[in-house]
Amino acid sequence: MHNPGKLAEMTELLAPNGIATQSAAELKLAEPEETGTSFRANARIKALAAATATERAAFADDSGLVIEALGGEPGIHSARWAGPDKDFRGAMNRIQTLLIERGATTPEQRRAHFIAALCLAWPDGHVEEFEGRVDGHIVWPPRGEAGFGYDPLFLPDDYDRTFGEMTALEKHGLPPLGLGLSHRARAFVKLATACLKP
Ligand code: IMP
Repeated sequence: MHNPGKLAEMTELLAPNGIATQSAAELKLAEPEETGTSFRANARIKALAAATATERAAFADDSGLVIEALGGEPGIHSARWAGPDKDFRGAMNRIQTLLIERGATTPEQRRAHFIAALCLAWPDGHVEEFEGRVDGHIVWPPRGEAGFGYDPLFLPDDYDRTFGEMTALEKHGLPPLGLGLSHRARAFVKLATACLKP
């Protein structure tokens, strides 16, 4: 992984399972082009590229924010909307401007979800894939400084604090405290159940 926010979260999720990780950035692997048209396809491209380059099992996440009133955008383009300077303030302003242009002012009109597709790939081409999703809506103005990316904009259903206002532990919502709250944690729980636990 090259995204430091996602990398920190995945390391937190994997460490209690006794799995040590090395990131694609640490290993100086080239970032493959994300030419897929779905989260799942892009996660597979990244995991297979890393597994082939390292000849070890590799793990990738492709994720993003899907906003219904924007026809699913930014979706698989979530990172790209922030541009090369990773300007998420700019990307959040753009989302708010587009939502207002479309007259989306109420929580129902501002429905959104985060999706995380996880892919575990082996050098022989075998893959295991898992997906997690969390539903909520887009708030304005952005709230909180925690997390990364679009966290300050996203209020998950049944919570009164955005991801940007939650500690990492709350955002993951993992057992024994919960069954997984964030899209990444929910996908990870599926992966752990299938691949890590006896
Ligand atoms: P990817 O590296 O192409 O998968 O880009 C995913 C992008 O989606 C990130 O750069 C963030 O902009 C956004 N994103 C994914 N997961 C989260 C999250 O948990 N919080 C906030 N933004 C996220």
